[in-house]
Amino acid sequence: MTVSLVVFTDLDGTLLDNETYGFEPANQALHALKKKGVPVILCTSKTRAETEAISRQLGLKHPFIVENGGAIFIPRRYFTSEQLKTAGYKLKPKGNYLAIELGFPYQQLRRFLVNIREKSKLQVKGFGDCQLEEIARMTGLSLREARLATRREYDEPCWLEDPAEVRLFRQKAREAGLKVVRGGRFFHLTANNDKGRAVRLLKKLYRQKFGRIISLGLGDAANDWPMLKEVELPVLVARPGRQLVELKNFPEKIYKTKKTGPAGWAEAVNYWLKAAQIEERS
Ligand SMILES: [Mg+2]
Repeated sequence: MTVSLVVFTDLDGTLLDNETYGFEPANQALHALKKKGVPVILCTSKTRAETEAISRQLGLKHPFIVENGGAIFIPRRYFTSEQLKTAGYKLKPKGNYLAIELGFPYQQLRRFLVNIREKSKLQVKGFGDCQLEEIARMTGLSLREARLATRREYDEPCWLEDPAEVRLFRQKAREAGLKVVRGGRFFHLTANNDKGRAVRLLKKLYRQKFGRIISLGLGDAANDWPMLKEVELPVLVARPGRQLVELKNFPEKIYKTKKTGPAGWAEAVNYWLKAAQIEERS
């Protein structure tokens, strides 16, 4: 019986270099997946505008997950309406996509942030408080890319003046029905969505489309953890000079790369392609 491989991947620090945002070292492995007809699903804290641009650069035409599982964007006609029914979610037409929204609207997250700053002494700031230039400087993005990063719909990247206050911040968020997760560069304020829930939903749709599937997931930070728990072949991509102390209880079978960023991505994809003997889908 044929088993189809489906790949879920984080972007920053995983498929993209954390500093340069380049993906050249992953090109060959990416090409190998495309040749085998393996869908590569971007699963990121980036916005739809950013992810759409990167998806185009990578030559991908698959669904993608944005803003830490805030929404799944599915190209129209990618799944049949019969297959989509099994998702059990309302599909919202948005541009060239059908969106499954799992997060809260961005304005709601902003209201919480502004409110908590006024009421408690928490010195917390987010993208919504910053000029474009400031975001470009913090992230190393160009002004044009930074503009795409500010088009947020379901997640607010944020940071604390005093990192020791993160516990209080988490607690306040929880009381408001929200959540704070750590990404590679920032904390992220979201609703109760996460990358794992979005991956679970897409896996269900791919099972409708392909039959039996095996999923490979690649990430480098704490916000990838829920995604890595949902896949059969989890990969932790190494980060330059930094340990991930927050990641506990690794699944036994997790593949930890030696190389960092896109080179580590390629290392793991090539490893699994060989080990799992993934055949081309006819
Ligand atoms: Mg990352």
